[in-house]
Amino acid sequence: MIRVAIAGAAGRMGQMLVSLVHQQVGLKLAAAIERDGHPQLGADIGELCGLGALDITLTSDLDNVADDFDVLIDFTIADATAANLAICRHHLKKMVIGTTGLSESQRQDIAAAAHHMAIVLAPNFAIGVNVTFKLAEIAAAILGNEVDVEIVEAHHRHKVDAPSGTALGLGEAVARALGRNLADVSDYGRSGVTGERAHERIAFHSIRAGEIVGDHTVLFATEGERLELTHRAQTRLNFAEGALRASAWVANREAGLFDMQDVLGLTEINVPAAKK
Ligand code: NAD
Repeated sequence: MIRVAIAGAAGRMGQMLVSLVHQQVGLKLAAAIERDGHPQLGADIGELCGLGALDITLTSDLDNVADDFDVLIDFTIADATAANLAICRHHLKKMVIGTTGLSESQRQDIAAAAHHMAIVLAPNFAIGVNVTFKLAEIAAAILGNEVDVEIVEAHHRHKVDAPSGTALGLGEAVARALGRNLADVSDYGRSGVTGERAHERIAFHSIRAGEIVGDHTVLFATEGERLELTHRAQTRLNFAEGALRASAWVANREAGLFDMQDVLGLTEINVPAAKK
């Protein structure tokens, strides 16, 4: 049985992970970590998540529970993840990191620690999104340089950045397959007299409305046909399920820095050379 600790256990992702961890075969919740001063420290994490008592007390002392777990799942804030990394590195514990907003130097620390321990780091753990990245890369390579690529994403009205990180990731996948540098060929929306569309451009369009959780479409159009790859996120459940799958996977790795493409075996699928 793989023993899992969850950092940020009282947060939105943390509570979802606590609720789902027992559904992943072979995983067992072993510890629940929150920040110093959190009002619910000392409470039973099961009670806190509405699951009934689990006999696991919410603590802020990761070092103290290091003997209790094999993998730490961390969905917190960047500085907390950096501190947790140091503790996990000291105890040679594996990590699954979902926290976003990491600085370049924090990323470098993660990469350095991964020489000694196995870490899965992914900005998006949703399984369908990761499959879409690969499908977009393959479709771009096969359709080739003459295809027009437009990426349309839709999110709730509260989202403050655009385009979404996932849309940019899809753009990167297409650009990589076609041997282009995304920064050199991206357009963001259109207005006015724009002139004819150049084939090499990759354009992003962002919709912000209501409570849309997150939709992404990569549209490939040639003169005679149109292919659309669409992913729709319905709830945060996808991220939690992906992170739990990553935990089961990373438990069997000794060291190295991995992402969800590795966990899902997608790196083993070859992308054909781009059609000229
Ligand atoms: P949240 O604010 O609801 O939860 C974060 C929790 O971390 C809070 O409960 C907070 O008290 C806790 N925390 C802060 N400092 C801590 C510390 N030192 N030790 C332990 N816990 C600490 O946020 P959320 O929506 O759950 O998201 C958390 C992070 O995960 C964000 O960075 C978010 O962008 C990211 N996220 C990533 C994915 C993905 O697929 N990679 C998906 C969803 C969210």
